[in-house]
Amino acid sequence: MSFAYDVKAELCKVPINRSCCAVAEGCGVLLYASAFTANEVRIVTENDEFAARLPKLFQKAFSLRFDELPDKSKDGGKLVFRITQEDKLDTIWRALGYDRRAHFALHLNFALLEEECCRASFLRGAFLSGGSVTDPQKRYHLELATSHVQAGREVEALLRKNPDPTEDEIRLALSGNICRCSGYVQIVRAVKRAAKERREAQCRA
Ligand SMILES: [Zn+2]
Repeated sequence: MSFAYDVKAELCKVPINRSCCAVAEGCGVLLYASAFTANEVRIVTENDEFAARLPKLFQKAFSLRFDELPDKSKDGGKLVFRITQEDKLDTIWRALGYDRRAHFALHLNFALLEEECCRASFLRGAFLSGGSVTDPQKRYHLELATSHVQAGREVEALLRKNPDPTEDEIRLALSGNICRCSGYVQIVRAVKRAAKERREAQCRA
């Protein structure tokens, strides 16, 4: 498995406890999903841990189930989750503070991100859904891919805020637009842990 896979698996160990955090994580997942439009939610992943987490997350955050669950035989090994039912889409858009019938570029809804716990949850969701990171043993490169350009810029601004000096070295080693983010610390820790486990595994091998 890739390093990014291990980091995501690590992040999926964080329990889904508070409703506020579940909505924030769901928001991150959706903004960085394959599709989040007025007519469709489509989340595609190759990560089994994230796939196991998604139904629980959406149940907690939005009290609903996916219309389509992964069918590995059909989608070439990719895990695809879809929602197309109108009432469910309404529920999701409303929970995130968006108007499903307005055709504006989506902004980040900062009302969902007031608490530190929720900001971390949002970033976790964004990373699980649209993120990748290279093995720090080789090279530090982190990406978050979204088709929602405006929201993406606001996420970048969010990541530049709230320095946390205790994680300085790692953040500096990470690529530019995430280097001063306290909300990002959980991902950084997961990267560290996964790197450590990998080192230990190599020592044993
Ligand atoms: Zn929270």
